[in-house]
Amino acid sequence: MLGGLLESAPEFFLTGVGVLGLMVGSFLNVVIHRLPIMLERAWRRECQMLLALEPAAEADNVVYNLMTPRSRCPNCAKPIGALENLPLVSYVWLRGRCSGCGTRISPRYPFVELLTALLSIAVAWQFGPTWQTGAALLLTWSLIALSFIDLDRQLLPDAITLPVLWIGLLLSLFDMFADSASSILGAVFGYLSLWSVYHLFKLVTGKEGMGYGDFKLLALLGAWLGWGKLPAMILLSSVVGAIIGIAMILLMRRDHRVPIPFGPYLAIAGWIALLWGDAINTAYLGLVNI
Ligand SMILES: [Zn+2]
Repeated sequence: MLGGLLESAPEFFLTGVGVLGLMVGSFLNVVIHRLPIMLERAWRRECQMLLALEPAAEADNVVYNLMTPRSRCPNCAKPIGALENLPLVSYVWLRGRCSGCGTRISPRYPFVELLTALLSIAVAWQFGPTWQTGAALLLTWSLIALSFIDLDRQLLPDAITLPVLWIGLLLSLFDMFADSASSILGAVFGYLSLWSVYHLFKLVTGKEGMGYGDFKLLALLGAWLGWGKLPAMILLSSVVGAIIGIAMILLMRRDHRVPIPFGPYLAIAGWIALLWGDAINTAYLGLVNI
């Protein structure tokens, strides 16, 4: 009955998904900021134990996870109240400044919230009120978190890539976006293709062009979408990477020797393949047949 209602009134469905996207985007901001810090603390503790060093400093023992402590203004430490935590709305209401000290709040926060909402609506528009929308939303949100963490830290945490890869393999049991054979081969070939490029590049230039996180990300995308989408995703990520890379060197005069993380390009390519991969493959095969 709910499905029928949602199909007869798609605007309610899309609005609902948009609002959900804003809230999830607000949570993704927390994940993007805190997960790398949590991982660094865990690694430091492990090193200290392995090397039998002095016990961790006081600050390292304070509870720090996705829920604790409450968000605070980095300048005046004023806790952010429930009303000020409303995604997007509160940023506009406060005109992008802290209500305590007036320090500018980074526009990155509302940007991530808005981006998450818009991409979520696009997913819901494409797949309608189906299980596919639920699964595709999960993948979309994971890709957003991975992209921004990679931009900030040149890191694609296993804590996200590996569970999402397993979920992709499991979903293939229900033929969600690919059958199981295609999904398993997608994971293996996704990993191996970038792994080979990496070692070839290293052999020829002596430099490391990307990280192991990139291999796992393409394995994840292969597991979700099947091996047939891998060529399109690799091609798309190179095209997106070239366009953004050249634009950044031209517009922002960014030093071309500074490595730009590859993860966001893979994520963008994967998301495009999630929504329009079949159309792209059909168009491509059409070209080949001519
Ligand atoms: Zn403040």
